[in-house]
Amino acid sequence: MYPTPDATTLPDPPGPQPVVLCVDDQPIVGEAIRRLLLTEPDIRYHFCSDPAKAVETAAAVGATTILQDIVMPGIDGLGLLRDYRSHAATQEIPVIMLSSTAETTVKRDAFNAGANDYLVKLPDGIELVARIRMHSHSYFAQKMLRETQRELAERNQELKRLSSEDGLTGVANRRVFDETLRTEWLRGARSGKSLGLVLLDVDCFKLFNDHYGHQGGDGVLQQVAAVLKQAAQRPADLAARYGGEEFVILLPETEINGVLQVAERLRSGVEALALEHKHSLVTDHVTVSVGAAATLAVAGLAPEALVQAADQALYSAKKEGRNRIRSAAVGAPNPLA
Ligand SMILES: [Mg+2]
Repeated sequence: MYPTPDATTLPDPPGPQPVVLCVDDQPIVGEAIRRLLLTEPDIRYHFCSDPAKAVETAAAVGATTILQDIVMPGIDGLGLLRDYRSHAATQEIPVIMLSSTAETTVKRDAFNAGANDYLVKLPDGIELVARIRMHSHSYFAQKMLRETQRELAERNQELKRLSSEDGLTGVANRRVFDETLRTEWLRGARSGKSLGLVLLDVDCFKLFNDHYGHQGGDGVLQQVAAVLKQAAQRPADLAARYGGEEFVILLPETEINGVLQVAERLRSGVEALALEHKHSLVTDHVTVSVGAAATLAVAGLAPEALVQAADQALYSAKKEGRNRIRSAAVGAPNPLA
């Protein structure tokens, strides 16, 4: 009752079509090759008798195999072979050398120059067709492989980006921060240079969300993160989301004065956004409190001590009225404990 699909009536999917370019100074050779290929309607054939135009013609017709005469007036066929190899559009195209001689030394020179194959003029039609198909097929396969590899590399890069970024704000995520803190700590221990950290918290963020909703809150986090990215100016500076409405910037090779400068850039930068926050206990717009700390990575101290110090400083900044910066010494007793 249903029509049965008949596979034999379906057209073959359009496969890649071999495109041959024959480069020979003698039109009679070009004509002879054309006739040899008459039995193969799917093979497209082009002829070029001017060696000076061979490279651009091969690129223009999209050749998948080149038949290249060895002896031509004014230019050596092997020189032309090197020309194909040095142009991006033609360097991967298989080249079959067409020669009037079967001499071993000529063959050797041709293969040494990068030829893919070698045929004596005039070749047998069956052999010529088989080789054209084989080389064209290998050309298509290579091309597809390269494209797949490129796509794979792009996808891997995207995956890497996604797994290291905070999805909402686009700054680094907590995992990357933790890893980077450890590596920069070790680097600091070797270089003897101070490692700095700012820890930032959006003031009265819960009150903001309660009044403006979570989408509004997300928007604030995105804008604060943008200020953060601006403030992390040097290549080694790392801006990251620490969690919730808390952000950090890790500042390698930075002493406390430098850390405080970055902290002030953050505080004033967020204030300058002038994002309305009617229910803030500080003022009528969004502000941040910032804790700053810096230390040498000395023996007996763990990287967590730097985070703890910045956290203590942030606590002080909040307690003393928010929208301000405080710093704390690393390794000092923790008032929160
Ligand atoms: Mg010739």
